[in-house]
Amino acid sequence: MRVGIRLVSLQAIVALVIFVATAATIGSALFIYHGRTSAVERAQGELRNYAFVLAEQTEQALQAVEVVQKDIIARIRYSLLFGDRDFNEIGTSEPIFAALAEKANELPHVRGLAIVRADGITLATSQGRAGYRPYDVSGREYFRNVIADPTVETKISPVIASLLTNRETIMVSRKITSSRGLVLGVINAALELEYFNNLYGRLVGNSQLETALLRADGSPLVTFPTKPSATPLNADILDALKSQDQARTANLVGGDGEARLAAVKASSSFPVAIVVSDAYSSILSTWKLHAGAIAGTAILMNIAIAFAWYLGRRQMNSSVMRAATESYLARHDVLTKSPNRLYFLEEMRRTIDASVAQSREFALFVIDLNRFKEINDTLGHPTGDLMIQSIAGRLKEAIGDMGFVARIGGDEFAIILQDAGAQKDVEAFAGEVVAKLEAPHQIDERVLQCRCSIGIAIGPTHGATADDLLKAADLALYAVKATPKLSYRFYDAEVNAERLKRRDLENALPHAVENNEFELFYQPIVSLKTGRYWGFEALVRWRRPGHGMVPPNTFIPTLEDMGLIIALGQKILVDACVAASKWPVSKHVAVNVSPIQLASDEVIDHIRGALEVSQLKPSRLTIEVTESVLLGEGAIERLRAIRELGVSIALDDFGTGFASMSYLQRYPYQKIKIDRSFVANLSDPKSQAIVTATINLAQALKIETTAEGVETVEQLEALRRAGASQAQGYLFAKPMPENDIPAFLSQTRLLKPAPYAA
Ligand code: C2E
Ligand code: CA
Ligand code: CA
Repeated sequence: MRVGIRLVSLQAIVALVIFVATAATIGSALFIYHGRTSAVERAQGELRNYAFVLAEQTEQALQAVEVVQKDIIARIRYSLLFGDRDFNEIGTSEPIFAALAEKANELPHVRGLAIVRADGITLATSQGRAGYRPYDVSGREYFRNVIADPTVETKISPVIASLLTNRETIMVSRKITSSRGLVLGVINAALELEYFNNLYGRLVGNSQLETALLRADGSPLVTFPTKPSATPLNADILDALKSQDQARTANLVGGDGEARLAAVKASSSFPVAIVVSDAYSSILSTWKLHAGAIAGTAILMNIAIAFAWYLGRRQMNSSVMRAATESYLARHDVLTKSPNRLYFLEEMRRTIDASVAQSREFALFVIDLNRFKEINDTLGHPTGDLMIQSIAGRLKEAIGDMGFVARIGGDEFAIILQDAGAQKDVEAFAGEVVAKLEAPHQIDERVLQCRCSIGIAIGPTHGATADDLLKAADLALYAVKATPKLSYRFYDAEVNAERLKRRDLENALPHAVENNEFELFYQPIVSLKTGRYWGFEALVRWRRPGHGMVPPNTFIPTLEDMGLIIALGQKILVDACVAASKWPVSKHVAVNVSPIQLASDEVIDHIRGALEVSQLKPSRLTIEVTESVLLGEGAIERLRAIRELGVSIALDDFGTGFASMSYLQRYPYQKIKIDRSFVANLSDPKSQAIVTATINLAQALKIETTAEGVETVEQLEALRRAGASQAQGYLFAKPMPENDIPAFLSQTRLLKPAPYAA
């Protein structure tokens, strides 16, 4: 069942009341002119307002029952997971009796609570353990409905006589299942009909109005006044029951044969509806009596004021229910309805205690969405919100009954996987979560994807407190983020070391950028058609004092996170273009451009600037971009603008991401670079199939292909057979300093044997 709490603040209701009162006053003045129609219309509006407010109140009451039932089910599951007692023993234990009594006592509208075994025998009730006698509810329909139907989680019964007290009641039954989905029994809440009678009566007491609470099938649960069949059903009402968002009006004939006007408001969270009706004779009586206009206004004002008073009272009276609601709100995230950080920390403490007591392990996942900010920035917050909801839904689906999901930050979630088991099981689960989250999301008209990173800590091994464990998982998460292509990682001593390394980088890099400690190396790319060098790819190196030459994979992610890649990237573009401008005019240069650079319009100016400074012909420059998390609309336009400068665009590391095929058609690429992981595995038929398919597709789209990481002659031959147009790799040359290029280019022979034209 959907848990949706709509809280109407007191101020809003009072404002509504004042509005109604004002409307009533103005309505009365206009009354004389508009006659019958306006009287009916006004009545419709009022009845709808009543129905709306009553439905809201009823929903809150049922919501409180649901919170209590779920809480007790959670306690039972928890004891089952971390103890060796079975459901019978837990269900009859003192703490369960005490919890039932306490909750029934707290909620004014709940007469009693009972835990029932799957065979219908009660285990505990809110009456307390002393003198407790089990009884059998297996014959009751509400019980059978819930227990027998696997699709039903909860059910609201018609009015029935209580087995214990013989008094009339309504049962709200919720299924109790184990973490593995086994049906254990039912938790029943017997509602206090009085309470609802009072609730409805207080509102309509001094008027002719009649109210009814109906089940979705139309059977009445509570009516006020308690005349039998005061609100008979007809097709109009049943039809109105189906519309959940608005109060609808319908006509009916009352038990006394009088025509009545009714407003129906179905609950959006529970299968119930409120009907408020008034007799036409009363609606029109004021119209008939001229002088009645003012009196009518007075009555309406009175009702409105009584209503405001009643709400004020209720707000105070229902402090318990409000507390339940507030506790729900305080512990849940409004956007996704998932538990929030507060609730998560509570749950962590419980889980740690239980796992220490039982000497078991559990796994804590901290999940971060990579570059989620870009979705918000490029597509807007409403889209970002929908994405977060979609992600939360998938996480809940992934964990099911095996644990707990919470949203602990804007784009951060946590999972507690209750029974961790072997490391490879946790790993398998992590893999599942990654696959689930990274699969395309349909958000409105768009299909969006998002990468995620997961840090995993095992409790209580990696930390004795919630804080320590969270820290460990966070460190693991950092380590994941610092390693491109890694999606999840367990906490270990190495992770700590990496965090230190990362901190060291964060300290050193700003200085390094300022001090110009970076230089470019160049790796040749060979055209397989002509056998000549097409040109060179510029690859950045950090000549770090005291550390020698540092390769880019270790520092680029940090530079990207710190935003420094933009300044460095601009310099790289200039240096690479200036270097290339000194080469023979037939040689090209390829420059890697980070998705962070591409997220801003500046990149276009930077490219244009580099071309101007170097006087390099734009057709000699290729920029290499990766399939980034999200190439939003802005990115397409930027790529097109870059293309319009005359610069070529290559899609780098092809095959390591996803959605690549569709990207190829959407973006203006002139070249695909086949990732070296495929080249390294060419002996594997699967890799070979991917490489062949990619090359075929590229040929069909008239796009060039560069195979990366070619290290052996065998690989080269296989790639040539498959139809690749270019190759790059250690077989030809490693990246070299700019100064080595003239000598390198003066070599005539590239390969042996050389089947190309010289
Ligand atoms: P990339 O764009 O895929 O660059 C190719 C990488 O493969 C280079 O590593 C290159 O040295 C390496 N490589 C080339 N041939 C072979 C081979 O036969 N065998 C093997 N095992 N490796 C080979 P490098 O220079 O360490 O660069 C790593 C990555 O760092 C690049 O991958 C690129 O993503 C990034 N990067 C390098 N320079 C820049 C830059 O200027 N800007 C940006 N944004 N990223 C850069
Ligand atoms: Ca590249
Ligand atoms: Ca690459």
